Amino acid sequence: MQSIVSINGKFYQPQDAKISVFDHGLLYGDGVFEGIRSYGGQIFRLKEHVRRLFDSARAIWLDIAISQEAMCDSIHAALVKSQIQDAYLRVMVTRGCGTLGLDADMCRDSQIIIIVDTIALYPDELYETGLKIVTVVVPRNHPAALNPRIKSMNYLNNILAKIEGKQAGCLEALMLNHKGEVAECTGDNIFIVRQGVLRTPPTSAGILEGVTRGAVMELAEDSGMPVRETALTLFDVYSADECFLTGTAAEVIAVVEVDGRMIGTGKPGPVTLDLKKKFHALARGGLIKT
Ligand code: PMP
Repeated sequence: MQSIVSINGKFYQPQDAKISVFDHGLLYGDGVFEGIRSYGGQIFRLKEHVRRLFDSARAIWLDIAISQEAMCDSIHAALVKSQIQDAYLRVMVTRGCGTLGLDADMCRDSQIIIIVDTIALYPDELYETGLKIVTVVVPRNHPAALNPRIKSMNYLNNILAKIEGKQAGCLEALMLNHKGEVAECTGDNIFIVRQGVLRTPPTSAGILEGVTRGAVMELAEDSGMPVRETALTLFDVYSADECFLTGTAAEVIAVVEVDGRMIGTGKPGPVTLDLKKKFHALARGGLIKT
């Protein structure tokens, strides 16, 4: 069991995995990526992640040299090579080496990088007690400038928000969109529960269309709960019965305080706990859905 890196299909030990300093991925954050997890050696929603990777690439005129099927095979091969059962896989496609100018046409060797490692985003106890988050000043990228649906390697918008959040003593931070509506957190999507209805911002609010978000919406619908993708204000969040975040690394985690306001009872709520349990069962193979 070891962390391993694949670059264009060739395996390297982490310390030996290197790409050029002229890669536009490094020079400009010019590339796309995915964060994927495996549970007991099974990769969760691999095809969906790979689809999103290719969609992101298409949106930025980045040609990926291999097919989606071949990409899935490469990711599988890297996981098998690592022998890690519960892995976090970081898949990146960079624009490749170019000149020091911005011209993407000079980049002809886009690099496919797969890192297989492990991840623990939040301390275990926070899954019991819930997270405290704050809304940060920096707005989520305007969708017309750099659509957050593109999972690009330029995550500065999120990093600036995360720094602001940490300065306020929080591990995750809530970002608003250019209209002042609730968008998403720096690395997670947000949900609220109000009077038995699950609500989350629509993709048009300028968010990443999270794979975990999609899975949780399906689980809620399957259990008969109404699910609405609607614009949310901070008032909606403050006055929610429950609030939680979803993400590949975070899975499902309750939020119990936002901007100093207690959410609901101040403890992870019953809907959150139920969806968290169901998501764990789904991801760990206890509840297979096609
Ligand atoms: N929003 C952002 C900005 C993210 O980076 C992520 C992934 N870490 C998510 C939401 C959650 O997406 P997913 O469930 O596909 O991991």
